[in-house]
Amino acid sequence: MKPTRVVRNEVEDGSTEKRVKYLTLLTEPQGKIKMAKNPFIPFSRPWIDDTEIEAVSQVLASKWISTGNRVREFERAFAEYLGVKHAIAVSSCTHALHLSLVVAEIGSDDEVITTPYTFTATAEAIRYVGAKPIFVDIEPDTLNIDITKIEQAITPRTKAIMPVHFAGLPCDMDALQDICRNHNLVLIDDAAHAIPTEYKGQYIGNIGDLSAFSFYANKNLTTGEGGMITTNNDAFAKPLRTMRLHGIDKDAWARQSQRDIWRYDIATEGYKYNMTDIQAAMGLCQLMKLNKQHERRRDLAQIYQKELANLPNVRTPVAPENPNEHSWHLYIIQLPPGEREGFIRALSEANIECSVHYIPLHLFEFYQEQYGYRVGDFPCAEAAFERVVSLPLHPGLTEEEIHIVIDEIGKILGS
Ligand SMILES: *Cc1c(COP(=O)(O)O)cnc(C)c1O
Repeated sequence: MKPTRVVRNEVEDGSTEKRVKYLTLLTEPQGKIKMAKNPFIPFSRPWIDDTEIEAVSQVLASKWISTGNRVREFERAFAEYLGVKHAIAVSSCTHALHLSLVVAEIGSDDEVITTPYTFTATAEAIRYVGAKPIFVDIEPDTLNIDITKIEQAITPRTKAIMPVHFAGLPCDMDALQDICRNHNLVLIDDAAHAIPTEYKGQYIGNIGDLSAFSFYANKNLTTGEGGMITTNNDAFAKPLRTMRLHGIDKDAWARQSQRDIWRYDIATEGYKYNMTDIQAAMGLCQLMKLNKQHERRRDLAQIYQKELANLPNVRTPVAPENPNEHSWHLYIIQLPPGEREGFIRALSEANIECSVHYIPLHLFEFYQEQYGYRVGDFPCAEAAFERVVSLPLHPGLTEEEIHIVIDEIGKILGS
């Protein structure tokens, strides 16, 4: 792919040159990569074993393969795990965010405050209801939304705040709840990274007005694709349950159980956002393993923290004292500006896969054209983007592998 779209982004404010630089970063791999003899160490891998394969096979053999009893069991178990009153399973986190905005009655002409330092899905969901994502810059160390900058972004149109618990480190929920109370806003947290993440003795998912989880393939708990909305608010839960399946008051399982397969009412506006029993069966297995996978991630992150702390020029991530207050979905180091590309390339040559989270949303053409954002608008997000590297971290990563990664990093940064 060539950065052919630069011309259309020419603007009068002098940001063109910087944007060309970003686009080149985004689109041009820098030459062929020589492969080393190390075994390939992937950045992430879903943690799947025979229990998931067996559970999914049972659903297939049962012939009830869409939304049914497994989905209900998964919802109950998920709610019980978090200690939250309601869990509503859906087809993705993006859809969980969308339905949360719908049930909170956020629509066109409204504004929703969020972070530019996230996956596009967060802001995309805001677009689905016709509202405008209002970005607020991040804190340079936690990479979470900078709460001290939120109030100046609030206008009479602001209806909600949608924070992201970046990499699995919780945002300051007390402060966010205070702002929401003072300005009558709904707190919808994008908890895609935050399972399991504790905040002051409670799980994320049990604090915001509505929380959205992702079970995408690379997330801490996966069903391939899938998501969950959690809330303690009965007035949100009831319409969410019908809206996620066409607004129909009884799903097929309920109708079949009552031997009354064809009779139903459309109670609310509807969407095709339901989860299948195939996904839920897998989710139940993943939920059983959630604590174990968290321990693995936490221990691996601690190895990185310890071994990388003394390397010059590496900034290791913020780690809370209580190890449960981070899900360690991602392990992100920051390097001096300008060194990141060479670093990733050198790791690739050592057969080690890394990633970058994220390209700030306001640097993309769509967000610039649609909402008028420009390079330079969110300097902390841009500075972070130039420095960050996400290192391999997943429950299947062995100690031998993590030490290969650490040794290679030492060689690259030592030279
Ligand atoms: C993965 C992710 C999403 C989207 O999740 P889907 O389940 O794929 O819709 C949203 N927000 C963040 C921060 C994510 O990492």
